[in-house]
Amino acid sequence: MTTNSRMKIFKKKYTFCNVMQDKLLYNLVEDIAGEGNGRIVEMLFNKKDVNEFLIAKKMDLTINQVRNILYKLSNFGLVSFIRKKDQKKGWYIYYWTLNNEKSLALIQNYMRKKIDALEEQLNNRETKRYYTCPYCHIEVSEDVALENGFSCDECAEIYKLTDNTPFVRDIKSKITRLNNEITEIEKELDDVREKERKKIDRQNKKIASKKEEEKNIKKLATAKKRKETMDAKRKVLAENKTDIVKKKTSTKKVPVKKVSVKKTPEKKTSTKKKSEKKA
Ligand SMILES: [Zn+2]
Repeated sequence: MTTNSRMKIFKKKYTFCNVMQDKLLYNLVEDIAGEGNGRIVEMLFNKKDVNEFLIAKKMDLTINQVRNILYKLSNFGLVSFIRKKDQKKGWYIYYWTLNNEKSLALIQNYMRKKIDALEEQLNNRETKRYYTCPYCHIEVSEDVALENGFSCDECAEIYKLTDNTPFVRDIKSKITRLNNEITEIEKELDDVREKERKKIDRQNKKIASKKEEEKNIKKLATAKKRKETMDAKRKVLAENKTDIVKKKTSTKKVPVKKVSVKKTPEKKTSTKKKSEKKA
């Protein structure tokens, strides 16, 4: 397989996931922020730091209405913001970003709850009896039918036992579809988390290498300083040595001189004569 075809498959899968995530997110946002507000997803999906004034303009809402929606989403951790002061107008502008990982996790949770509700419905259809009026098409539980003496509360027609088979089939297919979608979302979530993990790894490595570099620079500086100190010490030592040598030579000479000096008053002329003789 060539890299190109692999990329094509990857892109296809990615787009499919994105479209599905977009749609599911739309439903989720409608549930959280109210009907008609799901369209905010279009403006935030796969984007970063979106200006709230731009959102308001595109949605034809006031800034307060938009913030109201976004605060509701932020309560669920779906969006985060940064704020910047507008230098000209002096007020703060909020820039919003959709939290991809959190939204996927919420979608997953939301779908699981939906499945739970469907499974309860399925269980009811498989174990309980329902009755329907053939004229009004109103369906009631067995308890209600019993209360009404098995005749319709509205038109007095005798109830007919509901055939649960099409309901069971429909609920089962819904559950299957949701389970397939959850699997896709799980894969996407794994991808996002893996990417996030790699990003953190890269950042940590960067920090570590920078620290290592700083450490090495410090080491080199310390080594240089140490060398300089050592050199200075050596120099001082060397200078002292020559001093000592000089002093030693001078001290050797001094007593001789002293002796000679001491001797001089006694035998001044003789020493002079001796040296003269020697010379
Ligand atoms: Zn009826």
